[in-house]
Amino acid sequence: MSESIKGPRGVRDILPDESWKWAYVLGRAAETAGRFNYSEVRLPIFEHTELFSRGVGDTTDIVEKEMYTFTDKGDRSITLRPEMTAGMMRSYVEHSLGVPGGNPAKLWGAGPMFRYERPQKGRYRQFWQLDYEEIGSESPLVDAEVIMTAIELFRTLGMRNLEVVINSVGCPKCRPVYREKLIGYLQGRCDELCDTCKSRLQRNPLRVLDCKEDREIVAGAPDIFDSLCDECAEHFNTVTAALTRLGVKYTLDKTLVRGLDYYTKTAFEVKSGDLGAQSAVCGGGRYDNLAEAIGGPHVPGVGFAAGLDRVILVMGEQGCSFGAQPALDAYVVCPDDSARLNAVELLYALRRAGLKADMDYAGRGMKGQMKTAVASGAKAACILGGDEIARGVVAVRDLSAAAQEEVPLADVPVRVASLAGKR
Ligand code: ATP
Ligand code: MG
Repeated sequence: MSESIKGPRGVRDILPDESWKWAYVLGRAAETAGRFNYSEVRLPIFEHTELFSRGVGDTTDIVEKEMYTFTDKGDRSITLRPEMTAGMMRSYVEHSLGVPGGNPAKLWGAGPMFRYERPQKGRYRQFWQLDYEEIGSESPLVDAEVIMTAIELFRTLGMRNLEVVINSVGCPKCRPVYREKLIGYLQGRCDELCDTCKSRLQRNPLRVLDCKEDREIVAGAPDIFDSLCDECAEHFNTVTAALTRLGVKYTLDKTLVRGLDYYTKTAFEVKSGDLGAQSAVCGGGRYDNLAEAIGGPHVPGVGFAAGLDRVILVMGEQGCSFGAQPALDAYVVCPDDSARLNAVELLYALRRAGLKADMDYAGRGMKGQMKTAVASGAKAACILGGDEIARGVVAVRDLSAAAQEEVPLADVPVRVASLAGKR
C-alpha cells in the first residue's frame, strides 16, 4: 500500500482550532486599516518574474535563492509573489491610483507569500503578510504614519514588549559615498568575512551589515549617519520627532538595512523577543526608487509588511485574546426518528434567525445526542420529540444552568438568542 500524500515541506494547514484566530486578526487588520484610511487592494498571487527581479533586486536573498519561479504554458516566466510591495506599486502605476494634490494613496492587502527558505519556527515557505503602503508622498510624516500603523495594529491585538528599530539607508545621492567607505573598510577585513558576504562585497555591500555571522566586523563598520546628505538627515529627524511626540519608544540600529534594494531613507522593523531567531514581526521602509526600477515614473512610497504567522505565534505566547471562539448557540436534539423532519425545520428556523445551530445526523439516541450537545459547547439544547410536536412546544435546556423549560415552537429562536446573550 502506498503512503497517503502529505503537504509539501514548509507549508501548513491552518486547522479549525486555529483558523478562527486568523479570522480575528484579519478582522483587526482591516479595522486598523479603516481607521487610518487605507483602502484594500486584492493583488494576484503570481506576477511576471521580472517584477521581482527588478523591483526586489537581483542581489537580494529573495531573488537569488528564494523565489518559486516557473514557465507557464504560454512560455512566460511567472513567480509566486515573495512579497507584496512590488505588486502594490505595479498596480498603482498600472491603474493610475495616484491621489491628485500630492497626498499619498493608502493601500493595504493581505494574503499568502512564497519563499523557498529553510522551514523553522516562524519561517515557512508559504506564509501570510499584512501589507500597508502609502504611495505618492515624500513627507516624513507619512513615514511616521506608516510606523504608527504597525504600532497601532499590534497594540490593537494586545501584543506587548515589542521593540521598534529604525534606521536611515540614505538615498541615491548619499548612499554611493557610504557604499565606497563601507567597501573600503570591508576590503581590509575581507579574509574574515563569511563566503556569502565575500561575494556580496562588490555587488551589494550594505547587505553585509545584515549578516548574522559577521557581527563583529559589522560592529566596526563606518557609520551611515556620517554620510547622510542634509535632506536624508532632516527627513530622519522629522520622522523620529513625530514618533517621540506620539510617545513611541524606538531604538536606532545602524545595521538595519533590509533585504531589498529599492529602499531609501527610512528603514524599520518591529521585533519580538518571543520569537527566537525569527524576531521580526514586521519590516518596512521608504522605497522612492521602486516605481522607476519596474519601468514606471518616479513615485515615492513607504510601507511595511507584517508576518501574520509570526503575529499569531507571538499573540499565542503572550496569551493575547483572539476574541471568543465561535461556539454553537443551539443543538437540536431529536429523540424520535418520526420527528426528524420537524427537527430539521426547527434547525433552519434557528439558522435563519441568525443563530449558530446544528443537529445530529448519525442517528444516535437521546443520551448520545445530549452528550454531543454538551461537548459542542452549545448554549442550549432544543429537544423536539413526538410528544413536544403534539403540544406545539420545544423543550429548551439551558446547558450552562442545566435548567429546562417548554417554549412554544415559534418562540424558540428568540428564547435561544436570549440564552446565548445575543439579544
Ligand atoms: P527575516 O529577516 O525574518 O527573513 P525578512 O527581512 O525576509 O525577514 P520581509 O521581507 O521584510 O522579511 O517581510 C516582512 C515580514 O514578513 C517579516 O518581518 C516577517 O514577519 C514575515 N516573514 C518573512 N519571511 C517569512 C517566512 N519565511 N515565514 C513567515 N514569515 C515571514
Ligand atoms: Mg528573509
